Amino acid sequence: MSDSLNTLLGTNEIKWNLTDLYSGYDDPVIEDDISFCQNEAKAINSEYADRVESLTAKGLYALVARLENLETRLGKLFTFAFLNFATHTHDQQVSAFLQRMQETGSSIGKDTVFFELAWNMVNQERAESLLADDELAHYRHYLENVRKYAPHQLSEIEEKILLERAPVGRGSWTTLFEKVMGHMKFGEKQRTEEEVLADLYNPDRAVRSAAAEELTGGLKGHLHILIHIFNTLLAEKMISDRLRNYPGWVSSMNLGNELEDKTVGMLIEAVVNRYDIPQRYYKVKQKMLGLEELLDYDRYAPVPHLSDKKITWQEGRSMVLDAFGEFSPRMAEIAGHFFDKKWIHAPVHEGKRGGAFAHPCVPEVHPYVLVNYTGNLRDVSTVAHELGHGVHQYLAAERGYYSSNTTLVLSETASVFAELLVFNSQLGLLEDKEEKKAFICQKLESIFATVFRQISMNRFEDKVHNARRAQGELKSEEVTDFWMATQREMFGDAVVLSENYGIWWSYIPHFLHTPGYVYSYAFGELLVLSLFALYKKEGAAFVPQYLELLAAGGSRTPYQLLDPFGVNLDDPQFWNDGLQIIDDLLKMVE
Ligand SMILES: [Zn+2]
Repeated sequence: MSDSLNTLLGTNEIKWNLTDLYSGYDDPVIEDDISFCQNEAKAINSEYADRVESLTAKGLYALVARLENLETRLGKLFTFAFLNFATHTHDQQVSAFLQRMQETGSSIGKDTVFFELAWNMVNQERAESLLADDELAHYRHYLENVRKYAPHQLSEIEEKILLERAPVGRGSWTTLFEKVMGHMKFGEKQRTEEEVLADLYNPDRAVRSAAAEELTGGLKGHLHILIHIFNTLLAEKMISDRLRNYPGWVSSMNLGNELEDKTVGMLIEAVVNRYDIPQRYYKVKQKMLGLEELLDYDRYAPVPHLSDKKITWQEGRSMVLDAFGEFSPRMAEIAGHFFDKKWIHAPVHEGKRGGAFAHPCVPEVHPYVLVNYTGNLRDVSTVAHELGHGVHQYLAAERGYYSSNTTLVLSETASVFAELLVFNSQLGLLEDKEEKKAFICQKLESIFATVFRQISMNRFEDKVHNARRAQGELKSEEVTDFWMATQREMFGDAVVLSENYGIWWSYIPHFLHTPGYVYSYAFGELLVLSLFALYKKEGAAFVPQYLELLAAGGSRTPYQLLDPFGVNLDDPQFWNDGLQIIDDLLKMVE
């Protein structure tokens, strides 16, 4: 089936060319690179492991440069293994090579792990004087970042024990969760979670309602296991935060994001204060669907009048490049390389992983993009999203391996911005009034998924983590109460939450995998909306500044990177401006 679709869309030949990395699995350079990495890691270890504390600025620079060079080479090997696997997940040779690279990487890690531990042991006064030295300017931000974890680091022996026990810790519990969910069957037809969730997007209300019933039924049957995993991971986080001296449950996440607690608090407060936006929207949606009341399982019902015309790869390509070009010819030029030089893999085929990504690769090569293109508007948006990442990674590459990647909260800036460019240029092309309205609704729903839903989930996390710390293990009914309270706060009386909905906290993997993660989505989306408003106001003058932001990669903190735009992350007005843009979009459909 996918073959004829690929032919129709013209994606059969849109496959990436990985020879920019290695000519193939038999390329002799692969074995050379692997030996180089293994030998270099051993050499660095024996030369430096016991003398980091006595290094001069020059000596420290030389060590970090060697580590960066080693990791870059390793990154190139890993990229080759990973990208091949992404399109050939069933191929045993491909998967064996990926496994070999993972094991190589982990054994090299044992030789080089000394550096971060030892650098964090250097006393503060000496570290400050080293960091002030211009010799180290290139790595200053990277080295400062590593040191942020110094107050939360344990002794070398303790860290090694934790590392040794890690495979039976947090990771093992999340794997159990994946296994339980993977084996769970729903309804009479014994369907998978994915199949049931897909039904929530069905235009037929009876199908959606049955899906909600089935989802709840399946989860209920396993709730005793799910709540045990949930409680164990809440406790694990509590213990680990205590050992590592983190004041609150979200502090370690904020530190990783290079954000202060008060900035994150500001973001959350601003979003919670605008819960009227989703409430107003769902009232509009209820009317559009012609329903007496909107139930939880109606939220994802497709809005009427949305076009379902297929868009070929060539058409999609023009839509994206035209929208980019209108903003900045340089941006269109870079994105154009991905199409012209075979840096994209587009067709849907057996053995290829789902979803989409942009892989930054290593600075001396170039990023690659993977999508599963099926020709709808959502796919065009995804291509824009991933090419936004691609352009960002391409521009940031000159910072070098250690400084090119941004923190989580800024990593989605370029991608969401690119989506918004394409959305706006698409919107301008639509003439039918109803179609236009439906198109905006679809955009609003995707914004809600990243802004309001994620912040309501953050409020839920806040309640359960704090309750676990204050009162011990939680009953599933208590967790359900926290879930319903935080969801009701967002939906108000616009969406009726059925009893079934009460345990829908139990299948969301983010809470278990990466506690605290969810607010990053809201941060990224609102930041982009505000930047876009700035672009509308300043026009062409905004463009070079924006490209500079991308080129800076992760070489500075979010505060420093956004300073040139006059953005103050600690000013509530900044977040309100972003929310106002959503309000304006909503007014267009109201
Ligand atoms: Zn992304």
